[in-house]
Amino acid sequence: MNHLCPLCKTSYPSDINFCVKDGARLIAENATADYNNPEIHNPFERQPQNGLPYNKASIGNRFAAILIDGLIFIGLMIPAAAILFFAFIYAYGNKEEIAITLCIIGGLLTLIPIAFQLLKDGFKNGQSPGKRTMKLMVIDLDTNMPCTRKKSCLRNVIVLLLGFIPFVGSFIEPVMVFATIDGRRLGDRTANTMVIDKSQYFN
Ligand SMILES: [Zn+2]
Repeated sequence: MNHLCPLCKTSYPSDINFCVKDGARLIAENATADYNNPEIHNPFERQPQNGLPYNKASIGNRFAAILIDGLIFIGLMIPAAAILFFAFIYAYGNKEEIAITLCIIGGLLTLIPIAFQLLKDGFKNGQSPGKRTMKLMVIDLDTNMPCTRKKSCLRNVIVLLLGFIPFVGSFIEPVMVFATIDGRRLGDRTANTMVIDKSQYFN
């Protein structure tokens, strides 16, 4: 059975494990989303013990990536926060029209960090800036391809929604990452994605 590149669809002899064009880990040519068949999805290494084709990424790297992306999120939030602060000052000084205008501008500017939070895993190779730094990536388990923007929105909107649950909401996803055998938080389970070490997919 030949090996196929999941990215560029080039076919290779079965003794070649990585694509020479883009470095992607090759899969068996007629691979399907049958994770129970180790020959199809991970013919090159010992089958991970989590029933999935990939091993759980290092927790330390995972949280470092979250920290980096979190700092970027806060950085992107600063302009909106500054403008909303001035809106408050003008409202306090009874300059209502200026305050309302600044509120609208500040509200629109918050869309930038929110868009970052939603889309961050959907660009090149399923890597947010934090994941790129920590050599992690998000894989779409439906297609065995790097995470798409749509899947990135799905896995990350869950984080935003859980944030609305008072007190415990923000802790649910980190606990899921830490405590589960595959490191898949609720967002990953919703989108059928997984965070993996990039070396498991690209060489
Ligand atoms: Zn390729």
